Amino acid sequence: MDLELLDTTLADLGQPPFRAKQVWEWTARGTAGYDAMTNLPAPLREQLAERVPFSTLEVENEARSKDGTIKVLFRTVEDQRPVEAVLMRYRDGRRSLCLSSQSGCPLTCTFCATGTMKFGRNLTASEILDQALHFRRTEDVDHVVFMGMGEPMMNLDNVLAACRRLPDVGVSHRHTAISTVGWTPGIDRLAEQDMPIRLALSLHAADETLRSRIMPVNDRHPLREVLAACNRFYDRKKRMIFIEYVMLDGVNDAPEHAVQLAQVLDPKRFKVNLIPYNPTGSYDGSDRRTIEDFRATLEEHGIGATVRLTRGQDIDAACGQLAAKALAG
Ligand code: SAH
Repeated sequence: MDLELLDTTLADLGQPPFRAKQVWEWTARGTAGYDAMTNLPAPLREQLAERVPFSTLEVENEARSKDGTIKVLFRTVEDQRPVEAVLMRYRDGRRSLCLSSQSGCPLTCTFCATGTMKFGRNLTASEILDQALHFRRTEDVDHVVFMGMGEPMMNLDNVLAACRRLPDVGVSHRHTAISTVGWTPGIDRLAEQDMPIRLALSLHAADETLRSRIMPVNDRHPLREVLAACNRFYDRKKRMIFIEYVMLDGVNDAPEHAVQLAQVLDPKRFKVNLIPYNPTGSYDGSDRRTIEDFRATLEEHGIGATVRLTRGQDIDAACGQLAAKALAG
């Protein structure tokens, strides 16, 4: 729901300010539409239904994985841009949402499918929230990661505005994580926020040359500066930072890469999450043995490391696969 349009519409209609709060409370709790908002006068509900679309997104397609993961392809109501979001269901009951911050992505990480599609635009705060609200209407959700399409730090104002409202939807700031390629100004700004949001860094190579090769953004924000920004974040927030590291066969998965990675990270500040590569065409993924050895080498050097469970691969909902295949159509 376009919350600014809601405010101006309510003002136009001469409604008292508390109406916006009432509408938001219903919406955040997963209400299906204005009809159900029984503490609003019926004529007002009708006027709102006419003037403020209940969502800024329309569902174009929904795919369900056999592991319970659901991927939704939305279009922005305003200009039909593709936006994808994923709900992951875990055995322990956790319900985690992977949200997009942009339609497409302007960066060109060589292993990521989103990077190969055309960049559209930044999403508004309402378009970001509406992804979460879509899922909230069918079940409770408790975690959010900004690991869908786009680079959240390049649209940080809108991402933070959405985060500010997530607790009403059921997701605390501590259960919210923003993942970045290492956009240093954004990392510094996140560190200044009062909200205790987690930081995750997509690192993928501990060597400047290799990192620039697989992530061209490294030329603009070199690893050394990115890690310095992460250390400033830690000094300020005292919150562990997650390092994402996608395992590419013969590219960044040798034991010496693990040693190098351990050398640039302070074990008190960083934890590593190794990501099995989800096929997008350009690389082969490391095999399980190699990934396990890499993890063991990191641990030997004192760095905590886990291997990410791959979810939704059969529906192209896994990391790096959100390229809106239906785009062509
Ligand atoms: N732009 C931000 C947010 C997107 S997060 C960022 O890059 O951090 C998406 C995560 O999935 C990133 O860690 C990204 O590096 C990873 N990823 C991209 N392509 C992948 C692939 N093909 N297989 C596995 N992980 C991938």
